[in-house]
Formats: sequence, C-alpha cells, structure tokens
Amino acid sequence: MPRPIVAIVDSTALASNLTVVRRYAPHARIWSVVKANGYGHGLNAVWQGLNQTDGFALLDLNDAVVLRENGWRGPILLLEGFFHPADLKEIDRYRLTTVVHSNWQINALRRIVPLAPLDIYVKLNSGMNRLGFIDREFPGAWHALSELKQVATLTLMTHFAHHDQTAGLAAQMAVVLRAGDGLIGPRCLANSAATLWYPETHKQWIRPGIILYGASPSGDWQDIATCGLLPVMTLTSELISIQKVFSGGHIGYGTRCRLNESQRVGVVACGYADGYPYHAPTGTPVLVDGVRTRTLGAVSMDMLMVDLKPCPLACIGSKVELWGNHIKIDEVATFASTLSYKLMSSLASRVTIQIC
Ligand SMILES: *Cc1c(COP(=O)(O)O)cnc(C)c1O
Repeated sequence: MPRPIVAIVDSTALASNLTVVRRYAPHARIWSVVKANGYGHGLNAVWQGLNQTDGFALLDLNDAVVLRENGWRGPILLLEGFFHPADLKEIDRYRLTTVVHSNWQINALRRIVPLAPLDIYVKLNSGMNRLGFIDREFPGAWHALSELKQVATLTLMTHFAHHDQTAGLAAQMAVVLRAGDGLIGPRCLANSAATLWYPETHKQWIRPGIILYGASPSGDWQDIATCGLLPVMTLTSELISIQKVFSGGHIGYGTRCRLNESQRVGVVACGYADGYPYHAPTGTPVLVDGVRTRTLGAVSMDMLMVDLKPCPLACIGSKVELWGNHIKIDEVATFASTLSYKLMSSLASRVTIQIC
C-alpha cells in the first residue's frame, strides 16, 4: 500500500469555476492558464475539466504537445514565447500561438518558412519590467511583425504587476492605451485579479489562472468568498499514530512547541517533502475526522503533528484534510507566509493525484 496522502482533483469544480469566470467576463474569450503542470494539479488532470475553455495558455512546448496528443485542437498560447529559434519548428507543426517579447524573436520568425502563417501575441512591458517591449519600442515591433508573411494575426498582450492596487493598474492601462494607439488587433490583458475586479481590462481575451483552481489572486480567501469559486484540490491524508503527551512535553524537532497540559497528539502522513509548507507554524488549521483543529510544532519531511483536543473520537486511520473544501488553501498559505500559487505548484511528485 502507498502512503495514505492523496491530492484529489475535482474536475467538476474546474468546470464550474470556468463558468464563474465566463460570468465575470461574458464578452471575452478565455485562455485557461495551465502552466506549472496545471498549477500543480497535473496537466492531464485539469485539461479535461477545462475543456469548455477557448484556449490553453502555458509555458512549456512539451506541455503543448501533450495537449495536442490528448486531442485538444483549439488554441494554445505560449506565455513566454519561444526560448530558441529551433522551437519555431514545433510551434508551426503543432499550430501554437506564441508570445513575442524581444527583437531576436522577430528576427527568428523572419527566417522561417511556416506551413501556414502564425498567430502572434506581442508583449508590451507596461510597467512590470519583466518581459516585453517598452512603450516607445512597441509600435516598431508591431509594425515589423505585421509586415512578415510568416505572421497571420497580432494581439497586444501585457501583464499586470498588481492585484490590489487600482492606481498601479490604471498606470499600466494608460501605457497600454498609449503604446497601442492606432494598432488594430485584439487585446489580452487580464489575469485572475483583473478578471474579477477590473472589468475595464477584459477586452477580447483574458488569461485567468489561480481562480480556475478556486484560490484567491490576492492571497486573501475572503476576497473570493462570494464569487462562487470552488476549491479544486483537496490534499488528504490519515493519522498514522497517536501519542499521549504529558504536560511539559515538546512536539517534534526542536523546542518550538511545548504542551502545557497532557493531551493526545495525532501524527499525519504529510510533510514538507509532499509540498506542505515547512514554514507553517503551530496553529495552522487542519481538518481531522471532520473537525477543524491545528498543527503542532515544526513540520517534518514526511509527517506533521496535530492537536487532537477538539477531536476526541479521532483514531489511527482518521481522515485528515490539509487543504480543500473545509480548510482553504489560501488560509494555510497565509499562516505559512506564502501564497496558494506556491502551495499548489509545490505539490511533490510523490503525491498521487486522483481525479474525481
Ligand atoms: C501566470 C500568468 C497568468 C495567470 O495569472 P493568475 O494570477 O494565476 O491569474 C496570466 N498571464 C501570464 C503572462 C502569466 O504568466
């Protein structure tokens, strides 16, 4: 028997979240972002749940090929474009849409003879200063691309640096307007936060990621409490041992956690090598036997300990939810001073993914 830890991926929740996203942006088409192995849920586990999407956006050519081989015939967008001129051969063969963010990529495009012209997303650096042409260079790049016979369509794309700052977003929107002035073509601007909270950014295509998986782009689970989004991943395990610890006893490694009364302590088959955050402090919420309780002491590589005071009936084999429907992944992330993005995408490959 394998260890009892399992990540259950709910494909109905994915489909339902996609419907919610459509309700927020009824006039936009949706790139479902499935980078980082579907935000850790497994590309094969998520793409079927999202098959009503208009397109899939990801980074890795290999993942694009996996989608094609699985039978997805719709659009696929490479969010970081191509990393080497030789990648254009696969982009052409698998009919992928690619971002172009640098002049070397324009030159590489100029040198190929594709089977058919390619759809291109021209990346504007509107203030994040990560990828893309700055506003002054943008029209030049756009015009250079529009003259290539290798190019079918051009779309203006940019990425927002803020999820919670109207001012920051407005400044980036102003750059979009200025740089794109007179350039005719669709716009693709919104990530999850902009999809939910800034409808003026929706335009022709949106690129939501985290909300499809039922977590908040702001890191605050209350921010999405009324959106109707459902958690997609439930990380579950079991109690594999129970200790009766006397008052004054320490829990786990080091001296971080000392009990001031005698009590039962549960041992869960889940540790940081499974992707549970090492920095989760004593008190991080966890569900044991259907009851909300808390972690105790430092998280070990393969195990963590939980307070069984609120769960007198818990026994060896009792079900534990680390995050999912009852314990929001955003809440665990907040306790551990990290983000749901990080927790999802850090799920270890040794954890079995079960699709339901
Ligand atoms: C990851 C990513 C997204 C999705 O971001 P979320 O915050 O998960 O919605 C959109 N666009 C680009 C370019 C990205 O890299």
